[in-house]
Amino acid sequence: MKQPDLVYRFLFEEEDIRGQHVSLDNSWQRIVQQSEAEPTALLLLGQALAAASLLVETLKIEGSISLQIRGDGPVHLLMAEATSRHSIRGIVRQNRSIEAGQSLESIFSANALVITINAGEKKPYQGIVPLQGDSLTAILQTYFDQSEQLPTRLWLAASLESASGLLLQQMPGEEHDADGWNRLLMLTETVADEELLQLETTQLLHRLYHQEKLRLFPAESMSFACSCSRQRTQDMLHSLGEAEIKSILAEQGEIKITCEFCDARYQFDAVDLGEVFSEADSQPSTPSLH
Ligand SMILES: [Zn+2]
Repeated sequence: MKQPDLVYRFLFEEEDIRGQHVSLDNSWQRIVQQSEAEPTALLLLGQALAAASLLVETLKIEGSISLQIRGDGPVHLLMAEATSRHSIRGIVRQNRSIEAGQSLESIFSANALVITINAGEKKPYQGIVPLQGDSLTAILQTYFDQSEQLPTRLWLAASLESASGLLLQQMPGEEHDADGWNRLLMLTETVADEELLQLETTQLLHRLYHQEKLRLFPAESMSFACSCSRQRTQDMLHSLGEAEIKSILAEQGEIKITCEFCDARYQFDAVDLGEVFSEADSQPSTPSLH
């Protein structure tokens, strides 16, 4: 049995090419168990989570990246998020069955995949990628080819037990060894989904690159984590405005919010909500101590 939930970075020093292999196992199963979507939809989410986990590493930011598709198709929402702290969360929402042979575009009935990068205090960056291609890998490849990214290739695979991805990227710099890049791409093209999903990283790298000089860095653990909290939920309620909240309270007596990502439940009654508004309203006069 392979060790679950790890991400490895590696480097081909002579070619100035870096790589990563991520395996999401227990963290992914946590998401699968909570979802009601069909396997087809879940496997897309698994691939998106593997991709997000690889992408966040290449950005060298403190923050998160999310991949999101919204549309009117049977799968009307997919959102995969990975953070620089090696955590993932994601949801996929489905309201009717997917027919055999449906293209990605018609599964989602959407035009685009939206990539959002949150790097701390800075304004989030959004990239929009047309939903053209027969796989998530092909769509993300368009993103790499169209944006001013370093030449990058990725391979994704998902099952209901694991989601995995492999990424190769040229390092920044003037001179590049085109032969080296092409040779490594050709070697990597031979990878099978089962190998990505089942092999230990060391076995996988040996299988693909045993004739190459490669430096492997220590692994880091991946985990499921959700950024929701009672405070954030309270802030969200506050943003709805006092009038709206009072009318929901008058109707239902209390407000219950369930987090879509982790199933955490937050409950607020009239007393809690009275505090939400009085606290928040007194905030501007409170000196902030950061
Ligand atoms: Zn949550």
